[in-house]
Amino acid sequence: MSRQIVTILQLYPRDMNIYGDYGNALVLLRRLQWYGYDARLIAYNPGDVFPSDVDIIIGGGGQDSGQDKIQADLLSIGPRLKKLADEDVPMLMICGLYQLFGKFFETSAGEVLEGIGLLNVETYGKSERLIGNIILESEEFGLIYGYENHSGQTYLGKLVKPLGQVRMGAGNNSTDNFEGARYRNVIGSYLHGSLLPKNPQIADFLIETAVTKKYGSFSDDVIDDSFAFRARKAAAKRPR
Ligand code: GLN
Repeated sequence: MSRQIVTILQLYPRDMNIYGDYGNALVLLRRLQWYGYDARLIAYNPGDVFPSDVDIIIGGGGQDSGQDKIQADLLSIGPRLKKLADEDVPMLMICGLYQLFGKFFETSAGEVLEGIGLLNVETYGKSERLIGNIILESEEFGLIYGYENHSGQTYLGKLVKPLGQVRMGAGNNSTDNFEGARYRNVIGSYLHGSLLPKNPQIADFLIETAVTKKYGSFSDDVIDDSFAFRARKAAAKRPR
């Protein structure tokens, strides 16, 4: 029997892909293979044709200048992304793309970069940078370990759930203790590091959601996550 295909789309890897974000793509690819699927990774950069068959969409962070470069293209595919989100396609957007999946990012220079508004959040550039290791606690995913580096501070709109509560570090902003945002199967977060190697429970949420949606059931293989557990243990001991 030919293996079931699962396609991951990485948005703007040329401009939005820092602090290890590509690791998230590698983790999804490898775990899908371990579960027995034929995993494929497609890059989408400005001007590309948006692929018709996509199962998981991921995107990373970038400098303000990188966000500037991809913003017009992102707005042009925004309706497509919103439709896919409403069809429950799982997505993971980190830092710079998390900000642009929100309503807008107002840079510290006062420039307003309009976002696609898929997440009801707003971001304001500040002079202080929020940098360091970060730990969250989440009802859905338990403890989440990562690394943050951003000057944009994000505020959740009404009824928007965060990804988690900050236990160490800053998160969305320096005041309210929330980190990230959730909408249907979309996760926005500031956590680089990269996120998925140390948080396989989030990788499996994306994978299982995508596969069940497409094929109706999910592999019952169990992956040996002892290395990931050791990485989590080490991350838990790191100072801010
Ligand atoms: N330029 C944005 C900020 O500093 C995003 C940074 C990032 O993606 N790491 O807020």
